[in-house]
Amino acid sequence: MRRRTFCKSTVAAAVAATLPGCSSDDRPADVGSLISAISADGAELSLESASVAELADSLAGRLFLQADAGYDAARQVWNGMFDEKRPAMIVQCTAVEDVVHAVTFARERGLLLSVKCGGHSLPGKSTSDGGLMIDLSQMHSVDVDADAMQLRADGGSLLGHIDGAASAHNTMTTTGIVSHTGAGGFTLGGGFGRTDRKMGLAIDNLLAATVVTASGDVVRASADENPDLFWGLRGGGGNFGIATEFVYRLHPFNPTVYGGTLIYRFDRDFLDFYAELHETLPDEANIEPSFVPGEDGKTIALVEVVWCGDHAAGEKNLAPMLANPGLVSGELAPFPYHDIQTAADGALGHGKQYYLKSSFLKELTPEAADVIIEFANRGAVGSWFQHLGGATSRIAADATAYAHRDVAFNFGIMYFGEDPAQNETKIAAVREYYKAMEPHMAGFYTNLNDDDEKKTWGNYGENYPRLVKLKNRYDPTNLFRLNANIRPDV
Ligand SMILES: Cc1cc2nc3c(=O)[nH]c(=O)nc-3n(C[C@H](O)[C@H](O)[C@H](O)COP(=O)(O)OP(=O)(O)OC[C@H]3O[C@@H](n4cnc5c(N)ncnc54)[C@H](O)[C@@H]3O)c2cc1C
Repeated sequence: MRRRTFCKSTVAAAVAATLPGCSSDDRPADVGSLISAISADGAELSLESASVAELADSLAGRLFLQADAGYDAARQVWNGMFDEKRPAMIVQCTAVEDVVHAVTFARERGLLLSVKCGGHSLPGKSTSDGGLMIDLSQMHSVDVDADAMQLRADGGSLLGHIDGAASAHNTMTTTGIVSHTGAGGFTLGGGFGRTDRKMGLAIDNLLAATVVTASGDVVRASADENPDLFWGLRGGGGNFGIATEFVYRLHPFNPTVYGGTLIYRFDRDFLDFYAELHETLPDEANIEPSFVPGEDGKTIALVEVVWCGDHAAGEKNLAPMLANPGLVSGELAPFPYHDIQTAADGALGHGKQYYLKSSFLKELTPEAADVIIEFANRGAVGSWFQHLGGATSRIAADATAYAHRDVAFNFGIMYFGEDPAQNETKIAAVREYYKAMEPHMAGFYTNLNDDDEKKTWGNYGENYPRLVKLKNRYDPTNLFRLNANIRPDV
């Protein structure tokens, strides 16, 4: 750590009192020589201030303790439901070596470790009370090699960084629907987006990653280097290490897409129409209805339409959407892809109260439609479809750790609001709706669903034993456990 930062750190100040150049005035009255923290198993730990100071001194980035200026900003995560969590320390990395030092520090002491990229974890797994948070948010440089059609992104990049760099070269790779989502969690869990039916999931475009493993080794994973690890990274989440770099395949892309937002009457006819339409649409079409209250409070179907291909072909293929008698308003036209990729950034901004459950549907059956009609009309919470299929389905279930290749949709049920007093009622409403949908669903997306461990393991299907073997090899003590966790069995 740079010496000035070291003196700003409360615990470091305790040690610094003995060092030339840092006055004992830097030392807060209540700081002793130990820092309270929590072990991976939840036991109380005491960290020696000298070892923390040594860690801080080794960093190109910064180390924050709870009393430090900058700690509160660094600890923030997206979901306001977890805003009260306070890690014992935060290592804000600016170099791969910082990640190595922080991982080594946590492993040697059995410290609870969390990893934050964009901080979007719905269940708040990028933070903890009393653990060490590795904050990658300052590592976000992105470069494009237009000749090789590849994009390299640091492990702390946001999706907006990737979109911006790719579209500047009239290229794209699949990213998600909100630009402040982190590439780290997004990619390692699968990575759905508006281009996935055409280009595949983010993991289908991942060509290589650099990972700091639990042992502190820096390992390259690709089809040629450590292919087993590369397989596990594509859907196994943060279980095997901290990705400090991703390399993605780029596709030619016109940053002006065709589409728009259409509003339909929300009724059974609409759901039947959507189910049939899905069967006929080419990969370029991404059609995602949300069921939300309209201006008069009654539920509407708000349908986002993106066609990422030739505009004339889009007009032709999407004409049935405009001819549907349930259409209330809206039009389809060319528009900048960037507009839709950032449209929800504010509504789904940081610090609100969020709760979500989601699951996959192989098809939209009449029985599932009955449930949606009943619960969406209650208006208690919103629900929506993410359109899958297309290129995402033309990959074998065992080709990547992510196994759900045979599904047509992801169906999400979500509450968000500003008032924590509403949480209990709204969470209950999400769970009730989800429970009714569950018989019609087929597994879930670990990036969007917080479920008990056994369900998470079962969700990997036949890929699970191979994931456990990888976990045994790369993280035998389960250092990386704040995630959709795969338990080692060694
Ligand atoms: C508003 C919003 C919109 C979303 N939209 C989409 C979408 O369109 N498509 C989609 O597929 N998903 C979407 N998601 C889900 C999203 O993919 C997950 O929430 C994902 O975990 C977010 O990644 P993050 O890096 O921001 O999260 P963080 O909270 O920073 O990290 C979550 C977990 O990912 C792991 N992790 C993060 N970075 C790294 C890294 N570099 N190396 C190793 N492990 C790491 C850690 O285990 C960490 O606990 C959305 C989520 C939100 C909140």
